[in-house]
Amino acid sequence: KLYNQVQDLKGSIRVYCRVRPFLPGQSSFSSTIGSMQDDSIGINTASRHGKSLKSFSFNKVFGPSATQEEVFSDMQPLVRSVLDGYNVCIFAYGQTGSGKTYTMSGPRDITEKSQGVNYRALEIRNSSQKGLSVPDASLVPVSSTCDVIDLMKLGHKNRAVGSTALNDRSSRSHSCLTVHVQGRDLTSGAVLRGCMHLVDLAGSERVDKSEVTGDRLKEAQHINKSLSALGDVIASLAHKNPHVPYRNSKLTQLLQDSLGGQAKTLMFVHISPEADAVGETISTLKFAERVA
Ligand code: ADP
Ligand code: MG
Repeated sequence: KLYNQVQDLKGSIRVYCRVRPFLPGQSSFSSTIGSMQDDSIGINTASRHGKSLKSFSFNKVFGPSATQEEVFSDMQPLVRSVLDGYNVCIFAYGQTGSGKTYTMSGPRDITEKSQGVNYRALEIRNSSQKGLSVPDASLVPVSSTCDVIDLMKLGHKNRAVGSTALNDRSSRSHSCLTVHVQGRDLTSGAVLRGCMHLVDLAGSERVDKSEVTGDRLKEAQHINKSLSALGDVIASLAHKNPHVPYRNSKLTQLLQDSLGGQAKTLMFVHISPEADAVGETISTLKFAERVA
């Protein structure tokens, strides 16, 4: 409760950053991460003017060695506030391969230790009734965490996954898991309803028009448009603009009730440490800077 009050004073939009470790076989000599603190990160950039360090601030930064448990334990108060009747949106943003799905779901060969936010947040207890909705709109009543996990696996399978030059597991779709929670305040007897949307966004990378054509190109442009519309909405909320452009994308229309007002938003940006990703890393961090 106290945590929520403190957070309310600070506003309802938080921006976190997580840096993925180098993957097996990658050389860590080429890291773009020049400095890293608890709440800021410095990126090495090189241009014709020479080398420089560009710094970005966040509410929280998780380095390559942060565990799933550490990440979730930081997010737990936010997740728990759903039980107090708040609506919560958690977005994972970043280029393909930066670790969005790892944070939200876990690695491909998932173990209990490597489970991501989706699995951990569903373990919320004390709720008298739970429901879960997957995009394309099925609302499925569930009675246990196992039911939810089975549904999530199904959702994962249904998700459109295609191959691009970047990564053959590239996700060209947003994946949204919504949990509805209803409970009763034991002191006042009031019914509290909250919902939480856990959104693993499509890859934010700009497409090279020379590499994709036709439907693929249209799809990529559509993704970029919906991500920038999401950025516009969150930036308007962060800057307390009187007009919030929810209607510019389906994603923001769908989540309208959970963005702004009393709702709490966490934009969790993900970056890759490799030198050849520096362009996308900078653009991800600029996106984050804009919505903070
Ligand atoms: P995205 O969903 O952004 O495309 P993934 O979550 O699929 O990226 O991550 C790409 C690869 O990096 C996967 O093999 C994943 O298991 C690995 N990975 C990502 N983040 C981490 C991490 N924090 N620790 C260890 N491996 C990670
Ligand atoms: Mg993914």
